[in-house]
Amino acid sequence: MTASDDPGPYLRDLLERFRPLREGKVQQSLPGMDRTDPDTFAIAVATADGQVWSEGDDRHPFSLQSISKPFLYGMALDQLGRECVHRKVAVEPTGEAFNSLTELEEDHLPYNPMINSGAIAISALLHHDAPDESRDRMMAMFGEYLGRRAEVHEAVKGRELLGAHRNRAIAHLLRHFEVIGDDIDGAIRLYAWQCAVMLDVRELALMAATLANGGVQPVTGRRALQRRHVRDVLTLMFTCGMYDTSGTWAYHVGLPAKSGVSGGILAVVPGRMGLAVFSPRLDGHGHSVRGIQVFKAWAVDWGLGVLGGCEDSERSAHPVPDPASAKSAN
Ligand code: GLN
Repeated sequence: MTASDDPGPYLRDLLERFRPLREGKVQQSLPGMDRTDPDTFAIAVATADGQVWSEGDDRHPFSLQSISKPFLYGMALDQLGRECVHRKVAVEPTGEAFNSLTELEEDHLPYNPMINSGAIAISALLHHDAPDESRDRMMAMFGEYLGRRAEVHEAVKGRELLGAHRNRAIAHLLRHFEVIGDDIDGAIRLYAWQCAVMLDVRELALMAATLANGGVQPVTGRRALQRRHVRDVLTLMFTCGMYDTSGTWAYHVGLPAKSGVSGGILAVVPGRMGLAVFSPRLDGHGHSVRGIQVFKAWAVDWGLGVLGGCEDSERSAHPVPDPASAKSAN
């Protein structure tokens, strides 16, 4: 890798271009977020062979929130198989907000695992399968993606457990339609834990790089997800990962992705790399305002997009990291 191939200057350029964006509101209901500088900003890229570059507030910890959903879905596929999982959750975008109840009322089945109803159904399935072990198994699964022991933020988890009345309403509706069983608390508890897993933007990029690398964490070389289920997870991220803006995202960015209300977004370039942004001011859909803009520019500048990149004559000016080049992690 030569100095001119270093993506660091490009990542710094992205930070500077989008730092002036100060629209949007931090999710105040998350414990600790009231003390987070709303202008915290970090960007990272991790290649499918484990090189990591990052810029900005790249050690700032945040909770996974809804970014946990594709990983729990993958875990359920590995543990229970496609048939069992998709008896409880469909694979259709809703065109609704992440915490909508509408589709449940209409069709009595969560539309997809990337929204709260689908994720709570997945949590119920996993909890029901192994009530005494589901939490440890889930933390072990996150540990494989992170390459270290996974930890949760106690206050975030606590709020998720006690304050999440809408999620409880979703769980009760799921029970009413017999999608889940009686142990509503067990399902909500597992859901709360998954939302409260802590990490930084470099680790978020590595989680995406694990999916880019066919389910093997590129630094540890350990498998986090069965290879045959990687395409399921990426497909659902592509069609549903950005909720009611999934179509707009697919058009402008063209990558499987997932966002969370703490302000993180990750995206996967299959076979090549994982990309991540953290900036906590959110738009009305619950996505990081800067994150969306960074990804739109990034996709054009690096010619990304699973169906082909946007044409841009400027693109060649931006070095794109290559999994085959020499190690240069900072
Ligand atoms: N914990 C949040 C909730 O369940 C996660 C939502 C999100 O990140 N979009 O409402």
